[in-house]
Amino acid sequence: MKKQWRNTKTKEMVMDVFCCEAGALCHADIVQRLAGKIDRVTVYRILQGFFDEGVLHKISAENGRTYYALCRDCSAGQHADNHAHFYCMGCKTVSCLEEVAQLPQLPQGYSVSEASWFISGYCPNCRAV
Ligand SMILES: [Zn+2]
Ligand SMILES: [Zn+2]
Ligand SMILES: [Zn+2]
Repeated sequence: MKKQWRNTKTKEMVMDVFCCEAGALCHADIVQRLAGKIDRVTVYRILQGFFDEGVLHKISAENGRTYYALCRDCSAGQHADNHAHFYCMGCKTVSCLEEVAQLPQLPQGYSVSEASWFISGYCPNCRAV
């Protein structure tokens, strides 16, 4: 947690949702978790603010939804979330695979500013059943 944030109550509530979830959440998930406490538009604004501050990163999933997950080493306007994301077809959750972050070797002359992988399949929990 970074100290320079201007913490408002609503921001804290959104952050609390992320802190007790292991995976990534989409806008609708968060609105649902906060059921009636914060309206959709405010949630959207807070998410965008956290993205700008380098607190949450966005994940564009194949189902067309945008998910958000906590950042590890990002700062305002400077995201470094070059890791893979995994969509479980069983429990329909998105998670960050921080371990999977190897950049492919690009041909000469190309430089990477952002990389993302989206993998779908079954998570360990769902494979066990
Ligand atoms: Zn980030
Ligand atoms: Zn699963
Ligand atoms: Zn991630």
